[in-house]
Order: sequence, then C-alpha cells, then structure tokens
Amino acid sequence: MSDCVFCKIAKGIIPSQKVAETDTLYAFQDINPVASTHILIIPKRHIENNLSLTPEDNQTIGEIFLLANELAVKQGIDKSGFRVVVNNGSDAGQAVFHIHFHLLGGRIMLWPPG
Ligand code: AMP
Ligand code: ZN
Repeated sequence: MSDCVFCKIAKGIIPSQKVAETDTLYAFQDINPVASTHILIIPKRHIENNLSLTPEDNQTIGEIFLLANELAVKQGIDKSGFRVVVNNGSDAGQAVFHIHFHLLGGRIMLWPPG
C-alpha cells in the first residue's frame, strides 16, 4: 500500500533499525519502546489487521512466531519470558494499520493488560 508507513519501512523508504529480515518478513526496533526489548515483526506484504488474514497467510504467520522465538533467544529473554502481541482495532489501541507483532520482554509485565 503506497501510503502505509510499515510498507515503506519494509521497502527501506523510511529508515528503521533493522533486527532481522527474510523473504517475507521484516523485524525492526519500535521507535517508542515500552520494554527493554520491543521489536516489531511485520509481513512485507500489506495486511491491514487480523481480520484481513486469509489461509494464504498461514505460512507467514507461522514464520512470524518462529522468528519471534529466535529473536527472544538472541535478546536473552527466552527464559525470563516475553510477549508477542497484536493490537487489533481501535479498542485494542491499533495505531498502524499494517499488521505487526510486538515482541516485548526484559521486564515484568502485568495481567490483565491496561
Ligand atoms: P500499535 O499501537 O499496535 O498499532 O503499535 C504501533 C507501534 O508502531 C507503536 O509501538 C509505535 O511506537 C510504532 N511505530 C510507529 N511508527 C514507527 C516507526 N516509524 N518506526 C518504528 N516504530 C514505529
Ligand atoms: Zn503496509
């Protein structure tokens, strides 16, 4: 999508602090981190949110969770614990309408979330 910030990040048009990249995924540091590890993992393909997912995205979504695990190990938060979070829609606080998975860790997190 031409006016999407995260499409532009995935294409390198808007700069980001890259953490990892595959053929289908891009991972980068959140610009406003809320934990010592706060990485965003996105599919390069524009998908608006959870409700836009189709069966053709099954493989990509699986790859996202495996990449989150790999990055959690690299960040040293695999044993202490981490969250993989998707905010979907306005009540959940979704601000960017290109699906993204927050990898959060490095501090104790509360439940239920705020
Ligand atoms: P959400 O509220 O789930 O839509 O989260 C959007 C996230 O994107 C927030 O944590 C923002 O800090 C982050 N964000 C927005 N713009 C950028 C950017 N240009 N580079 C990195 N992170 C960004
Ligand atoms: Zn996009």
